[in-house]
Amino acid sequence: MDYTFHTRIRRVLRDFKKHYKVHEIEITDTEETYLVTGGTQDYTVKLIFDEEERLKEWSCTCPDFTTKTHGYCKHIIGVLYHTGREFMILPKLIEEIKG
Ligand SMILES: [Zn+2]
Repeated sequence: MDYTFHTRIRRVLRDFKKHYKVHEIEITDTEETYLVTGGTQDYTVKLIFDEEERLKEWSCTCPDFTTKTHGYCKHIIGVLYHTGREFMILPKLIEEIKG
């Protein structure tokens, strides 16, 4: 993790905290579903964990996630941060996200 990474992630999170809210929809041992509100539209973020609580799969219903190739969006970053799991984010992928 370098300075650029920290700067970018901080910018994404600052924007997220200012404008968005995370609502728990369903939480089970391995799957968590959240509704993210505050943007032009509400989006659903889904996180799937393995038995060792490592992030296995993730998805978001926003256009950024479904049309871009980096595999993350600010909603997923925001939800991970909101739940204290930002360490699970891969720095290399985050660098591709536009603030
Ligand atoms: Zn999204």
